[in-house]
Amino acid sequence: MTIFRVVTRDGHVKFPVKCPCCNERGISSVHHHSSENYEKSGGFQVKSTYSFDIPYCETCQRHAKMYNSDLKYLAFIPIILLFVVPMLKTDIGFISIIIMCFILFLGLRWFLHNQSNSLMKDTCITNEWAYKFTTLQLKPNFLFFRKDYAEEYASLNGSIIQESE
Ligand SMILES: [Zn+2]
Ligand SMILES: [Zn+2]
Repeated sequence: MTIFRVVTRDGHVKFPVKCPCCNERGISSVHHHSSENYEKSGGFQVKSTYSFDIPYCETCQRHAKMYNSDLKYLAFIPIILLFVVPMLKTDIGFISIIIMCFILFLGLRWFLHNQSNSLMKDTCITNEWAYKFTTLQLKPNFLFFRKDYAEEYASLNGSIIQESE
C-alpha cells in the first residue's frame, strides 16, 4: 500500500476537518494521539513528547480500536496454570497448554479483525488507524494512507509530500 509522508516544520500542526480513514467531512469527534519519541541528535538520545487531537469519525475510531485491541492477549492467561497445577509440569502438559494458548490467540485475533471489518464503511481506506506518527530530524512526521488527506494536510501546514511504499 502506498503511504504519504508529510514532514512538518514545527509541533503546531493543523488537521483537515475530515476523517483520515473514510474521508467524511465536517466531523466533530477527535482521536487523541499522544506519544513519546526518541531520536539521536548530536550524539544524544533526545526525547520529544507530542499530543494531537486529530479529527476522526467515531465509526473509524471504533474499527481501529477493535483491530488493535489487546483482548487477544487474554489467550495467554492459561499459561498461569503451568505454574499452579503441578500435574501440568510434565513436558506433554507444558506443550499442550502452549499450543492451546496459541490457537486461542489466533482465534481471538481473527474474531477481532472480523468485528473490525464489520464496522468499516465502504469508503474506509484501512482497518487500522489511517496514519502513523514518528519524528524525523526532531520534527513531527505524519504518514497517511489517503493521498487526498495528505495533500490537504500538507497545504494546511506548508509542507511537502513524499510518496513511499
Ligand atoms: Zn471515518
Ligand atoms: Zn474507517
